[in-house]
Amino acid sequence: MRIGIVGASASGIYTAIFLKRKHPDWKVDVFDHADKVGKKLYATGNGHCNLLNENFSGRYFNCPEFIDGLLSKYPLPKLKEELANLGIATLNKGDLIYPLSYSASSFVSYLNGVALSLGISFHLGVEVKAYEANKTITLYTSEGPKAFDKVIFAVGGLSQPALGSNGSLLNEFSNHGYAFKTAQPSLCPLKTKEKTKMISGVRHEAKITLLDNKKIVYEEVGEILFKDDGVSGIAVFNASAFIARNPSGHYELEVDLFPNLEIDKLAKYLDCAKKNSPASEFGAVLEEKFAKYLVFAMKMQGDKSLEATLKRLVFHGLELYPFASSQVTSGGLDLMQIDAGFASKKENNVSFIGEMLDVDGLCGGFNLGFALLSAYACSESL
Ligand SMILES: Cc1cc2nc3c(=O)[nH]c(=O)nc-3n(C[C@H](O)[C@H](O)[C@H](O)COP(=O)(O)OP(=O)(O)OC[C@H]3O[C@@H](n4cnc5c(N)ncnc54)[C@H](O)[C@@H]3O)c2cc1C
Repeated sequence: MRIGIVGASASGIYTAIFLKRKHPDWKVDVFDHADKVGKKLYATGNGHCNLLNENFSGRYFNCPEFIDGLLSKYPLPKLKEELANLGIATLNKGDLIYPLSYSASSFVSYLNGVALSLGISFHLGVEVKAYEANKTITLYTSEGPKAFDKVIFAVGGLSQPALGSNGSLLNEFSNHGYAFKTAQPSLCPLKTKEKTKMISGVRHEAKITLLDNKKIVYEEVGEILFKDDGVSGIAVFNASAFIARNPSGHYELEVDLFPNLEIDKLAKYLDCAKKNSPASEFGAVLEEKFAKYLVFAMKMQGDKSLEATLKRLVFHGLELYPFASSQVTSGGLDLMQIDAGFASKKENNVSFIGEMLDVDGLCGGFNLGFALLSAYACSESL
């Protein structure tokens, strides 16, 4: 059996390895137009590669039932066991699961080594431009046509095109009659109408609340990072997922800079600070850089007190940063077009896995977790 896999990143490499271990006599060829295996993976988890999450479940995804259905067949302990069988030892930071080396580059080089020792062939710097699905599947590559018995597409979404996933096969899939849910950047900073340049670079632990038409759709406590033209940080990234999934909403972001302090207590601190140091009362509670901004924000918001602004700083006109700044793509190949083993319902011997599907998770190892889950389910079905 000749297997062609397009995409040598998380889902493509996992699938190649699982398939070759299950069927040592199969010939597995993996194509990628990037110049190295797992190019995007080096950047994951801030260079540490957050592989999975102890709370891996559908509630962290846009499609909870789809994920939970898969997990009922391939639960988290099974996925962890499969990683362990490959010699991938892990460590936990809270619920986040990383390779024991805590190094994305060591992880990629290890996976590459596993694949090579199994006899998997990589074709790097090779673009797949089109394909034909007849009795055999022909991939039209920059090195000429290649014939396979089965082909698995693991080409990712549109996020960070410089790392390989640039949507170059989207038109081809449309020509084959596949429907896609519109792609949006997800897990990215948010531009705001309010100018934030004055506090650019400031980090602060805060509770963020995302509202759509005044209704709360997401809340999280975490570090917020102010940028020249908006806000960033893990909690903001997670909020961006909700905007990406429903871009036509009417959003506002509220930031409580002191989620663990009651407003009365904050008022008392500020009163006391004003008496003791009238010229720099904020210094008692916040980075000085924030002071001017808060006075400005208080006026803009029409708040009666500074403590009210500190507890509820509001940002409007939220816009997702572009794909180049997003970690994942929301939207993708419609899940109605694949079966439980990730095979196409339209074309025999063609499968789709990983981020190219209409599946997106929050930060915390959920997206690499889905790459693993889809790769495992796909390889088990073949
Ligand atoms: C900066 C950053 C940090 C991240 N950190 C984490 C994290 O810590 N934890 C987590 O769970 N997720 C993280 N993610 C998300 C995670 O990396 C992706 O969800 C995951 O890599 C998706 O895997 P994939 O194999 O499906 O797609 P991709 O990783 O996007 O790989 C697709 C591959 O297909 C290749 N390709 C595309 N088109 C063609 C073509 N026509 N011909 C040949 N090759 C082609 C591309 O070059 C690419 O290598 C992060 C993403 C980024 C950008």
